[in-house]
Amino acid sequence: MLESLRRIVQEVDNAPDLEQALAIIVRRVKEAVKADVCSVYLNDYENRRHILQATDGLQQAAVGRVRIELGRGLVGLVSERAEPINLDDACAHPRYLRITDSGEDRYHGFLGAPIIQNRKVLGVLVLRQLEKRQYQEDEVTFVATLASQLAGAITYARTNGELARLQDEGIPQRFLPGLAASPGIGIGTAVVVYPPADLDAIPDRRAENPQSEEDAFRGALRDVAADLDRLAARTQTNLNAEDMAIFDAWRLMLESDTLVDGTLARIRAGNWAPGALRETIAEHARVFDEMEDAYLRERASDVRDLGRCILVHLQNLAAAPIQYPPKTILVGAEISAMQIADVPRELLAGVVSTGGSGSSHVAILARGMGVPAAMGVADLPVGRAEGRDMVVDGYRGRVYVAPAPAVRAEYQRMAEHDRAMTNELKALRHLPAETTDGFEVPLFLNTGLVSENRPLGLDECAGVGLYRTELPFMVRDSFPGEVAQMANYRKVLEMFAPRPVTIRTLDIGGDKPLPYFPMHEANPFLGWRGIRITLDHPEIFLTQVRAILRASVGLDNLRILFPMVSTVTELDEALILLRRAHDELLEDGYQVRMPATGVMIEVPAAVYQAEALARRVDFLSIGTNDLTQYLLAVDRNNSHVAKLYDELHPAVLRALSQTLVGALVHGREVSVCGEMAGDPLAVILLVGLGVHSLSMGAHSLPRVKRVIRSISRARAREVLKAALQCEDAAAVRRLLVNTLETLGLGGLVRPGG
Ligand code: PEP
Ligand code: MG
Repeated sequence: MLESLRRIVQEVDNAPDLEQALAIIVRRVKEAVKADVCSVYLNDYENRRHILQATDGLQQAAVGRVRIELGRGLVGLVSERAEPINLDDACAHPRYLRITDSGEDRYHGFLGAPIIQNRKVLGVLVLRQLEKRQYQEDEVTFVATLASQLAGAITYARTNGELARLQDEGIPQRFLPGLAASPGIGIGTAVVVYPPADLDAIPDRRAENPQSEEDAFRGALRDVAADLDRLAARTQTNLNAEDMAIFDAWRLMLESDTLVDGTLARIRAGNWAPGALRETIAEHARVFDEMEDAYLRERASDVRDLGRCILVHLQNLAAAPIQYPPKTILVGAEISAMQIADVPRELLAGVVSTGGSGSSHVAILARGMGVPAAMGVADLPVGRAEGRDMVVDGYRGRVYVAPAPAVRAEYQRMAEHDRAMTNELKALRHLPAETTDGFEVPLFLNTGLVSENRPLGLDECAGVGLYRTELPFMVRDSFPGEVAQMANYRKVLEMFAPRPVTIRTLDIGGDKPLPYFPMHEANPFLGWRGIRITLDHPEIFLTQVRAILRASVGLDNLRILFPMVSTVTELDEALILLRRAHDELLEDGYQVRMPATGVMIEVPAAVYQAEALARRVDFLSIGTNDLTQYLLAVDRNNSHVAKLYDELHPAVLRALSQTLVGALVHGREVSVCGEMAGDPLAVILLVGLGVHSLSMGAHSLPRVKRVIRSISRARAREVLKAALQCEDAAAVRRLLVNTLETLGLGGLVRPGG
């Protein structure tokens, strides 16, 4: 039975359309369990009915004609209960309904399984037997499994209008769900991209002449480096420095010992260059793959992308350049960031990937370039997408294939509204972030740049509220030394001086492990992370802190922040080490001033100890990304529980409020530096709470400023009071959306609103 299950699943997968997928299912299932009839009913919620959509055993003429009122009969019961129903004598059941125009005799045996996608029942798969028959346990699971297999095919058919055609009556257009990866609306034509060369198909081969293989490999590296330069130059005007760091990361990877020396060693051992490259890339990628965490998996795909690019040049395969149409929607199962950078910005209207998540590099690039993107759109059959009309709703992570004219027109309207809004926001650039009753809430930038370009928002922000130091550590092959680190910190301190720059000490672990500092943990987010690692390795901590302090000499705009603190002892130890580094530097003759110090509040324990922590430092900075995940017990990177991750959860609001109370006992300032600070809805609450400053990505600055300039602090306090009465995040969200709407700012959170 397992074997036939596998075969059927494969056949359904390969079916060109829904009609044939359904035909395969009913025929094969009927055969496999030796039933007399197998049928599929689909739910048409719009018209409140179940429609017979395919059958093997009943008259074909009944297909599309048999329509049962929603909820009636045994089909209705299966749909209602959303679980299989197995009856040896259906006729004896009170919900039995005899349908005469389908050629139904009195069937006794009955097994119905719901077809469910995203908690919604799309239809019912039904088996019938003339005789009385109780289906066996393994037959029930078999049918239930196939029913779930159908769900994806049905969703896709709905999206592209196929189902509407099948049911010959229009039903509203459905979308393919995915993850919102970059906000905005993209309307255009799909261009499908695929990996340029198959590295895995390369065989080993003895090199005739190792020297010429070596030369070819080095030549390919040079070509790829030139490609990267070209792509970086093309992308530069659209990206801020932090996002441009992706190109730096590739350059470092391209020049890394692991790649270059590893491949050369294999060539010298006798393999030809493509074979040596395949082995090296596979080994390098495997290291990332095996660590089984989100960030490193993304790195593994970067390594493979790079390997393919080198192979293309090694084989002189450089494909004919793609002719991108105006309004290109780039679609792929595995889009590489290089492929996105290859599309001229003025032609790129959107990005859709069937894999990946909001933290994939492709998503980061899309956000940086301001291109709408949806990731993880798993139901999109990429093979059939080329040249299709498409709408990408990057606000909600939705994709419409061949949208109906009404859907298209609605999105067109939203896109126009978006454009008007963007122009309006530009006008705010040089105005302060001040409430209507005169309270200023300075807006800082979150950054982690490693390249030298001017970051977006540089002129507009009050300084840097969170400099994440992980990035420069991540793009290397080993820990950077004091001098290399210092140069990096100096750059950012100089760039923003005299405005303050808050540098956070290394926050690796969790979803940010270092490739050269492997950790194997069952629960990395509850494990060795942030300050816990650096206190266990004072040599790493001291090197970093010395580098940070030395970088600030003469500028004096430095503030230091400690991540992931969960006890006061950790903070005391960190402060002792910081003072020690400071004393040593003074002894060494450096004119270093002791900087202001702060602690991140991102663990529930820190919330309850805000007062004790605040007593020891100059400021608190709330990391709502981690605080939300730890308070709600929801992994911030897990798409299965993404719906539960909500910064507007009343528990999060109470934690923020409690933190402020603790800080104010000692007159300390509190800043918020998680994503929440950049959310136009949440900002109302943060202003109401009396948070002293906010720190966010450059793209959020204008929207947040717009909200602050439209509301009084008194009003924000009233809204906060009402929010604290709410019992769930949905109620808080409704309240905030209403508030924004009454301020005339609904469009900031709802496209076209
Ligand atoms: C946070 O947790 O909110 C935060 C700002 O830190 P990071 O996102 O780097 O973990
Ligand atoms: Mg954090």
